[in-house]
Amino acid sequence: TYIVNDACIECKYTDCVEVCPVDCFYEGENMLVIHPDECIDCGVCEPECPADAIRPDTEPDMEKWVEFNRKYSELW
Ligand code: SF4
Repeated sequence: TYIVNDACIECKYTDCVEVCPVDCFYEGENMLVIHPDECIDCGVCEPECPADAIRPDTEPDMEKWVEFNRKYSELW
């Protein structure tokens, strides 16, 4: 699963949203989020992000961001 972190805040690019094959990006308050259960881990969005805000959840200290992404994606 890929997860968006706060490097996304104020980023105006939406290239990641356009390439996602399962449309699992959602709008948070001031950044995009990925629904962790809908993401199929394809990785195509990661290189599209100019802010390097999309990271795999296997990286250290990602638990907080996984929950943040889940919370905001489930508001829709
Ligand atoms: Fe969508 Fe693939 Fe990125 Fe997951 S890794 S958010 S499925 S483009």
